[in-house]
Amino acid sequence: MKLHLDLSRCVRAKSKFASCMQCVEASPKHLGMVEGLPSFAKGTGVEAAACVGACPTEALSLSDFSVTEFFFTFLESKVRLLSPTLNLPSLLVLSVEHLIALAVASEEPIVLDLHYYAKDRVGLEQMEERIAEANYLLSSFCDKRLESNHTEATTPQVVEDMVASRRAFLGSASLTGALKQKRAFEEAVEAEEPHAFEIAQEMIAKIKERHLPDKRKILLTTLTRAKQPEVLEVLPQEAVGFISQKFVTASCTNCQICYRICPTGALHSDGNFSLIAFDAMLCVKCHLCHDVCEPDAIGLQGGFEIAEFFEPRERTLVAFDIRRCEECGNPFTYHEGEQSCPRCRIEEEEAMALHQTPQPYTKYHEVTR
Ligand code: SF4
Ligand code: SF4
Ligand code: SF4
Repeated sequence: MKLHLDLSRCVRAKSKFASCMQCVEASPKHLGMVEGLPSFAKGTGVEAAACVGACPTEALSLSDFSVTEFFFTFLESKVRLLSPTLNLPSLLVLSVEHLIALAVASEEPIVLDLHYYAKDRVGLEQMEERIAEANYLLSSFCDKRLESNHTEATTPQVVEDMVASRRAFLGSASLTGALKQKRAFEEAVEAEEPHAFEIAQEMIAKIKERHLPDKRKILLTTLTRAKQPEVLEVLPQEAVGFISQKFVTASCTNCQICYRICPTGALHSDGNFSLIAFDAMLCVKCHLCHDVCEPDAIGLQGGFEIAEFFEPRERTLVAFDIRRCEECGNPFTYHEGEQSCPRCRIEEEEAMALHQTPQPYTKYHEVTR
């Protein structure tokens, strides 16, 4: 089982200003940045799985294992233990979104087998952090929690139970049932699919494509089945690592970069580029929009409103007054009193600068004599 990188989904392929390091921070021993892009040695395998669960855009994956397929197969089975010795190559392929979705979708409590990480302090810490974040979010809208098992699985009885569980897992996971669930999930999210740009050059088109990761589709689908709590809490923004709520300040110049580059379509505009709209449920907190914004006009809201999970809405972060340039006739973003677009204004300034250039000495001499 090998690690695979789909560069077209990595935000670093979209802009040289991208600062995302989440994969390297999750698997520092196996991944690094080379010329601004994630890199790992040929043949790097499942030991780098922490980066799979950490990548916000699902650019990283393992060969021969699909977390999305696993999600449906696991729910279809009767087993409620997640363990690298039982049913998946590493717990760290699971993101916080997967963990929340699994807890919400399962009738019975889910247990994560952490004893497997007894000798891997970094792996254990990362998994505990993800479980803690998932449980913190779960506690804000339901009474379900993920449980952890730190018990050493060395006694014959535990091993026997594991083997029995593996048989039960494989036996109880009916393929038709899993496929049925998957189809229902795909139909449910069809309406959420963001628009993809159509650009002639194949590779550039792929890089520019808007793609909502499966883990977000899974979370969206699962949340539609969760009961809305009576009290809708506001959590500290920093406590939620996979989604954000934003604002745009008056320093925005409507340069269009953020909403053209957003990998999921969470930020977008209308046909006239007269506004910036934002759908928080599509935001994967990749930070790319912040990285490319020259005037630093995009900010994170102080708190994350849980209401977004149950009443998702598109917000207009800023609206612009679009007018026709009096010089060239092209539309531009109007600011106090301007009659022409930025390009015509630059041309006008250049022409004026040229006109004001001091005359050659001889002429000056002739005029003043
Ligand atoms: S975490 Fe994902 S998007 Fe970020 S740099 Fe790594 S591969 Fe790219
Ligand atoms: S928020 Fe920043 S990047 Fe987006 S349009 Fe405004 S200035 Fe450009
Ligand atoms: S809105 Fe910004 S942080 Fe969210 S997905 Fe788009 S580019 Fe990334």
